[in-house]
Amino acid sequence: MRFIIYSKALYANWVYYSPDRIAFDAGEGISTILGNKVFAIEKIFLSHGHADHITGLVGLINIRNTGMGDTEKPLTIYYPEGNWRVGELIHYIKKTNRRLQYELEWVPISAGARIQLFSGQCDRYIESFATQHTEGEISLGYKIIEERKRLKETYRDLPQEKILELVRAGKRDEITEIYAKKLFAYGGDSTPLDPDDVREVDILCHDTTFLIDDEREDFKHATLSEALEVALRAQIQEALFAFHISSRYKQTLSELEAKLQEEHPHLPFKVIFIPPGRVFRYE
Ligand SMILES: [Zn+2]
Ligand SMILES: [Zn+2]
Repeated sequence: MRFIIYSKALYANWVYYSPDRIAFDAGEGISTILGNKVFAIEKIFLSHGHADHITGLVGLINIRNTGMGDTEKPLTIYYPEGNWRVGELIHYIKKTNRRLQYELEWVPISAGARIQLFSGQCDRYIESFATQHTEGEISLGYKIIEERKRLKETYRDLPQEKILELVRAGKRDEITEIYAKKLFAYGGDSTPLDPDDVREVDILCHDTTFLIDDEREDFKHATLSEALEVALRAQIQEALFAFHISSRYKQTLSELEAKLQEEHPHLPFKVIFIPPGRVFRYE
């Protein structure tokens, strides 16, 4: 399973991405629900400091120290530099966990940071970008990017035979180029993202606290229509995760899903509603 997600606006929100053993945010319940998988997590990326995105860290950090697993495995937590709520949590955790068996590192970052996840045949890394949350709340979004190789444009129409010839003649590097394949973007629970920040990403996880447009009062979070517009303008390739849905839609979620299908039958990507209050898995 690539993704395990729990999301219920105001209560708890987090995304676990298994290929890179990383989590985006750590709302309440993350360690209870992931069970032994908490020991797999190597890095956590916090979008901002609201309780529904960070309170799970208290339990997670503790269980990594005392649970049945590799209690010496290091853990790194990245967070938006200057976010005072996260600052207070760090202070509390440091004070109450003086004797951790593992190395716990807190790394403040700003937009445009690049954090290596994997290097080998291809490089995979996280890139952070700025998001807009409520006033005074410093927040970040994150993208998983993989560097891939492909034939340069001028060689793409050549017959296979010719390409093999060039490769045999030692020209592999000359005819190929590296490009950035954007696998996933996580926007936390911010207002509509800038499509340029998430352009041509395979899967976009976007706030959709309000599934019905006029139910939003202040300019906070996003509506489903706004998330759809971002996804269309950004040319999302595979799926839009409708994330951070308010629990007021729990009973009517399938109706709203059907309505979306009816109104937009030909979207170039799937829209996947993350049902509030239920563990959701996606391959
Ligand atoms: Zn939230
Ligand atoms: Zn928030």
